[in-house]
Amino acid sequence: MENKDDIRLLNSEKLEEFFINKNQKKYRVNQVLDWVWNKSISSFSQMSNISDDLKNILDKEFVLNKPIEIKSYKSSDGTIKYSIQLYDKNLIEAVLIPSKKRITACISSQVGCSLDCKFCATSRLYRKRNLFCYEIFDQLFFLNEQSKFYFKRKISNLVFMGMGEPLLNYKNVVKAINKIKSKSGLNFSAKKITISTSGIPKIIKHIAHEDLKCNLAVSLHSAIQKTREIIMPFSRKFPIEDLIDSLKYWNRVTKKKILYEYIIFDGINDNVEHIKALVKICKTIPCKVNFIEYNPTGDLRFRRCKVEKLELYQKYLTNEGIVNTYRVSRGRDINAACGQLINLNKVGY
Ligand code: SAH
Repeated sequence: MENKDDIRLLNSEKLEEFFINKNQKKYRVNQVLDWVWNKSISSFSQMSNISDDLKNILDKEFVLNKPIEIKSYKSSDGTIKYSIQLYDKNLIEAVLIPSKKRITACISSQVGCSLDCKFCATSRLYRKRNLFCYEIFDQLFFLNEQSKFYFKRKISNLVFMGMGEPLLNYKNVVKAINKIKSKSGLNFSAKKITISTSGIPKIIKHIAHEDLKCNLAVSLHSAIQKTREIIMPFSRKFPIEDLIDSLKYWNRVTKKKILYEYIIFDGINDNVEHIKALVKICKTIPCKVNFIEYNPTGDLRFRRCKVEKLELYQKYLTNEGIVNTYRVSRGRDINAACGQLINLNKVGY
């Protein structure tokens, strides 16, 4: 492994400084940035309109840490999961989910995850490291090429629902989103980007001021602190009142609704007390609730709820005027569904 930084860690001002120090023309900066981001080259030698002199300088100082596809898995429902190797041999997974109306890319923000959600297999990998902003960008770029190839369409929606907790890699996620949105990046619509978080109140307040204009999904799973701590033990550090307070703040600053993600587990959060608690929270901030089907991940304490319980939840919410949907998981047969990203081939889980 080379001990040089990826050139994409430098913004245009820093790169300009570097060029000036090396007696290179400033206007070359934009050309080089166009190659390394928009054209996603993997070697400086590919820059056909750049002098050999400058190519050599860049080659000496920087690298392009491009990820490589190790393996892909195709689901019977059309979903494709990619196992991607990073420059330091760490593995992540990213998923392409096609449907009639949209093509969704589900990407990772960390190698593994430091949170301990008991129902999520990724938590068993622990967190190895944060992804760099360019590693987040590269996943989308790669999936977009795959989407054009397989589905003849570009990706329309992006969700940070792969491995990791995006808000615990806040800076790189923000940088990556800005690049993904920018004309010099992928020109992606902010409205089609969703950051999904387990709920880190302090960072939710920070991100409100980034002017990202993208959507925020919160993996709530219970509106009762005690129950939430059983499902997501890390939430002991973040009382639900603080979470709600941060979401109110986020809504006030961004004027955007919150999307709550909610799995109903058999015998854990499936009674009326839980439903009423959820209704109460939903009434405090403009929101929508998305019920997610549980994908079993090996911990036998967690089981999918009975259909009647889902219907009861939906009836209560709808009666109270709370918009709610139910999401059936995609790609379960290839372990590509929510909570199933665990580098299966590597750890032999
Ligand atoms: N850390 C972020 C993003 C990754 S998880 C977060 O917690 O939001 C993406 C979504 O999948 C979250 O809503 C999460 O709660 C859900 N999820 C995790 N494991 C799951 C499982 N086994 N079945 C269904 N959904 C799961």
